[in-house]
Amino acid sequence: MNDSAIPPAMFREIVARVRCALCGHHFRANDIQVLGRRGNAWAMRAHCPMCRAQALLFAVVEPRAAHMLYSDLAPDEWARFKDRPPIATDDVIAFHQFIRAYDGDFSEILDEPLPPE
Ligand SMILES: [Zn+2]
Repeated sequence: MNDSAIPPAMFREIVARVRCALCGHHFRANDIQVLGRRGNAWAMRAHCPMCRAQALLFAVVEPRAAHMLYSDLAPDEWARFKDRPPIATDDVIAFHQFIRAYDGDFSEILDEPLPPE
């Protein structure tokens, strides 16, 4: 077993418990790929063969149990953010100042336009 491999019994438990958040499909072992490990936490990408959704899952593995954490991040977003430092007070202040000074239409900075009022 290499260092980033998840214990097989825990992996089987995770596969048995995790369902696609969009369509409810039960994943098979082949649908879940380990992306990385930090301490006793593993990051995994789950690819749903039914609806083609991709999800990012975290599992915290302890001696007797695996705890699953679901993420709103897509796997590629996690790859972009995982090595960034945590959000700090200065980041919040900078965002606050940006929003106070912003004089445009928020539709310009959102991925999806706001619904009409
Ligand atoms: Zn699905």
